[in-house]
Amino acid sequence: MSNFAYEDKERKNKVFANELNISKHQNKFFCPNINCNAALVFVNSSNNREAYFRAIPTKEHNKYCPYDHKNEPTFNNSKYIEETFNFNEVAKYIILGKGKSVKNRLETLPALYRMCLSKALDDSYNNFKIFKILFNKSSLKFFNNFSPCVIECTFLSYTNKGEKYRKNNKEYEVKLNQIKVKFPNNHIVTLYFKDETLYKSIRGIIYNYANIPFVILAYWKYKENSIYTYIERKNQFYFPKNL
Ligand SMILES: [Zn+2]
Repeated sequence: MSNFAYEDKERKNKVFANELNISKHQNKFFCPNINCNAALVFVNSSNNREAYFRAIPTKEHNKYCPYDHKNEPTFNNSKYIEETFNFNEVAKYIILGKGKSVKNRLETLPALYRMCLSKALDDSYNNFKIFKILFNKSSLKFFNNFSPCVIECTFLSYTNKGEKYRKNNKEYEVKLNQIKVKFPNNHIVTLYFKDETLYKSIRGIIYNYANIPFVILAYWKYKENSIYTYIERKNQFYFPKNL
């Protein structure tokens, strides 16, 4: 279920369910997820604001498509006051636990992720462009090493602190627990954990997510050819539930 879709396979002509011209009601539309082959139809409603797009049964969303409401609940816009949102403050609040909670502000990672999915990448939420908040397969062309940023990652491997490895005939020891993940553009990224308990907890969950994207919000550091971050809190992760 999505409140917007595209008229063309290239995802250039965006249409919103609540603005759709009545003559277009019989058309088939494309899912906002560029990796999804669903054919969407417009579902009208007596209340125009509740109109949406759903996949036809013969061309359903791909297995983990976040625009399939079975995978991801839709964003409940009425719960929040958009004007209270500032992405940098909310990111700091989620990543570092710094700053105060603001009444009716969108300030959790699942809500932030769902809000981004409810909009097109070049839309905004309180003047913050969605493509600067969320990086996924559909936003490859926009991405410019944004930090902080919400990124759909996939799990690659983990290395425990104290493990030995050899490089140039010398032996080294891993100093911090680390998990390697892959960005939507296939860049390999290292997550460093200072907290052992947090590391073990995340490692236990992430292990079940082979090839299934999950979401991380972090201050990403881009240094020469490597990308890394220090993970501070569990709130930085969001694992879609329906495996
Ligand atoms: Zn889809």
